Amino acid sequence: MRQIRHIAGILAGMAILVGAPSFAQDADLSPEIAATTDQLIADALLDEVGLQFVEDLTTEVGARLGGSPDEARARVWAMNALKELNFDRTRVEDFTIPYWARTRESARVIGANAQDLVITALGGSRATPEGGLEADIVRFETLSDLKAADADSLAGKIAFIDERMYKTQDGSGYGLAVRKRGGCANAAAEKGAVACLIRSVGTQPHRMPHTGGMFREGALGALPAAALSGPDADQLTRLLDRGPVRVNLDIGVEYADAAPSGNVIAEVEGSDLEDEIILIGCHLDSWDLGTGALDDGAGCGIVVGAAKLIADLPEKPRRTIRVVLYGSEEVGLFGANAYARQHGDDLDKHMLAAESDFGAGRIWRFQTNFGEAAISYADVMKQVLTPLGVSEGDNAAGGGPDIGVLRRAGVPVVTPAQDGRDYFDYHHTPDDTFDKIDPEAFRQNVAVYAAFTYIAAQTGWDFRKSEPTSMGSD
Ligand code: ZN
Ligand code: ZN
Repeated sequence: MRQIRHIAGILAGMAILVGAPSFAQDADLSPEIAATTDQLIADALLDEVGLQFVEDLTTEVGARLGGSPDEARARVWAMNALKELNFDRTRVEDFTIPYWARTRESARVIGANAQDLVITALGGSRATPEGGLEADIVRFETLSDLKAADADSLAGKIAFIDERMYKTQDGSGYGLAVRKRGGCANAAAEKGAVACLIRSVGTQPHRMPHTGGMFREGALGALPAAALSGPDADQLTRLLDRGPVRVNLDIGVEYADAAPSGNVIAEVEGSDLEDEIILIGCHLDSWDLGTGALDDGAGCGIVVGAAKLIADLPEKPRRTIRVVLYGSEEVGLFGANAYARQHGDDLDKHMLAAESDFGAGRIWRFQTNFGEAAISYADVMKQVLTPLGVSEGDNAAGGGPDIGVLRRAGVPVVTPAQDGRDYFDYHHTPDDTFDKIDPEAFRQNVAVYAAFTYIAAQTGWDFRKSEPTSMGSD
């Protein structure tokens, strides 16, 4: 830790020079906290609780679409599981969401080259008439190309966006891909189209379409909209090379303005700083095609496994650790927004938040989003995580979808970035199943979460950007 002290000293000096608040702490872990953290890491690398949680959730509940009876069953299941693990104050915080579910989906090329295409409806797709609608396909390379098309040029047609997504370690290809998925129906409707097809988001070559949400107000978007599997997008493109292609698209949906959902919450009660919260979260809902193992059963197993290790220590941590299994993330971050509404008055008690929602790949980088004065605390966490193969990230962590609202409200967040190179091979497809989780990588995640969560809970360090009002250091 000597080097950390040195860096912290330089930072403190810089803070004085530039006139920033001079409450920078010379950070170090007490021998007791360091020893307990080491023990937590060792225990986490043998974790059974977290992995069992994902196995049981994905086996006994399976898919759990936001607002569906399956998600309701998942809440009951999770409540029971968390109570059995002896967490404190286990509860559901209810809210309602606009509900959407597919009831049928198919697509078929008609005419001389008649054949079926593999599709799946996007969340929020409108229904077609029973028996399907029939229209000519107009292909676009990108969403921008569709947006640039002449007004009414797609009257009575189906727009097809063939944009590809590429693999990256940090998943950065997903943002662009999501714009296509989210925006296709609106852009196509503006040009007079009757439906929209996209090449599946995702990076796998299999004949499996990838579902996901689209822009909508309430339960429904602008048009019937579906994703073609990658090979089917290729097939459609080859057919279009040979001449006009006409397709029958048949989608059935059910929807409701208000369906029950909820956040499942469990805590490890703190001691002398009990009213201060370290939040670690995941989302309990999933898409309906797979069993939601990587997205996001794994995240829930990781945070539950980490919290359980801390709960089992001989002494309570100083701050309260709050595990939040958010509801209805996939269908529009409803759980995150409900949490912010329901906890708006005590967001200033949230001292740190983190979320695991990127599968179960090894954590390769640890980013923080702390106040300048707390950079030395970030350095301590990074040093502790180095032996787990985690490299040092910057101080620009986004946190994750469900805790974005907390970050924007000023809650410090960390991003333990997982290796996402194969995440989008499975994500939102029928192939997102329990066998895709590598237990060793999963346990490394549990170790990282247990370590930084315990340090944040036990040191009492203040990570915020504004000057602390009540906090001391360790
Ligand atoms: Zn997710
Ligand atoms: Zn997802």
